[in-house]
Amino acid sequence: MELFNLKDDSDKASFAEAVKKGLGKNQGLYFPKQFPKFENIDELLALPFVARSVEILSRLIGDELPKAEIQGIVERAFTFEAPLVKVADNIYSLELFHGPTLAFKDFGGRFMAQVLSVIAKGQPITILTATSGDTGAAVAHAFHGIENINVVILYPKGKISLLQEKLFTTLGDNIHTVAIEDDFDACQQLVKSAFDDEDVRVGLHLNSANSINISRLLAQVCYYFEAVSQLSEAQRQDLVISVPSGNFGNLTAGMIAKVMGLPVKHFIAATNSNDTVPRYLKTGEWQPKSTVATLSNAMDVSQPNNWPRIEAMIEQGLIDKAILSGDAVDEDYTQVAMKQLANLGYISEPHAAIAYRSLSRHLEPEQTGIFLGTAHPAKFRESVENVLGQPISLPQPLADCAGKEILSTELPNDYAQLKAHLFSILKG
Ligand SMILES: *Cc1c(COP(=O)(O)O)cnc(C)c1O
Repeated sequence: MELFNLKDDSDKASFAEAVKKGLGKNQGLYFPKQFPKFENIDELLALPFVARSVEILSRLIGDELPKAEIQGIVERAFTFEAPLVKVADNIYSLELFHGPTLAFKDFGGRFMAQVLSVIAKGQPITILTATSGDTGAAVAHAFHGIENINVVILYPKGKISLLQEKLFTTLGDNIHTVAIEDDFDACQQLVKSAFDDEDVRVGLHLNSANSINISRLLAQVCYYFEAVSQLSEAQRQDLVISVPSGNFGNLTAGMIAKVMGLPVKHFIAATNSNDTVPRYLKTGEWQPKSTVATLSNAMDVSQPNNWPRIEAMIEQGLIDKAILSGDAVDEDYTQVAMKQLANLGYISEPHAAIAYRSLSRHLEPEQTGIFLGTAHPAKFRESVENVLGQPISLPQPLADCAGKEILSTELPNDYAQLKAHLFSILKG
């Protein structure tokens, strides 16, 4: 696989280099200029999930990793299903929340962890990342127990729900969590200071494992194929997919799937009130506003960091802009959509509900629509219970960790103390 820095064409990387580095020069994103295309999609769709994903990923990655290696990575990463659940006559939810942390980020996180452990070939790595909730949990579970990789996760003390905190602070072993006595921005700043500090970056072999890593996107391509494989041939003829979007990694993966030959007629970029992209698609002007807090807080992003990749696919002529429309859903309609879904017998959470709302407004009667169910409703229990006025039960992974002890270290927002802590836990 050959990737180019979108900010500087001369900065090239192989798949392994791009996974290890994350970002290129000038914080540019790595992305290929072209993608393989499957001629016989029906044959591919007929395969089971893991076998099909191995085919897709080995075509994408190329001969850099032997197929047997990719097979092992996929078997260890994709240990749960992505069922397509019928919600209304021609509308389906692709449930991406059956992994250990109950959100779609498990797919990308687990795949990236397995890839890193294979390409590091036994050299030690430290993953250092800041989280406001979701990503940290996915990263922690994905790397838990992987040899030679230590994970340090910073999060704002007292600013995330207790259940969310327990989901990633109770694992122990190679997963180290630090509660910082400040907000999320302070955590991100501390991570940045560590990456700017050569002692730490080189001495502890830092890697960011963040959401822009190319490996995550490749993993996510696979579940779009899995979705379509569960439809009948007739339903595959005129298909619309609605993607609840924040940083737009999920939508990028869907577009890659289309470029590879998946029969999708139209994509909807569904956002909450942080609507930079829907406005851009209408007016052609990129005018981010300041970010506002919403019920769908994993999508509270006004400068989506994966958008340049979608832009590149359009510019390179891989994707026709006309197959994409944007739709912003405000707080009131998010709640309306959650209630409508409940009336259809489907309990959902705010992110998926936004995608459903955009889809149901757009869909023609003869079309088939899929919206992505990005999180389990219990992950957003409080807002779901408030909106629907009925209790939500905890699924097993959340119930399991609720009784466990939090193993975090507490530190003030002070880089010198964090640095001393990192060396003591990782070199001590
Ligand atoms: C991260 C997240 C999103 C947004 O996905 P992007 O790839 O950043 O667009 C949507 N829903 C949930 C539940 C998430 O955690």
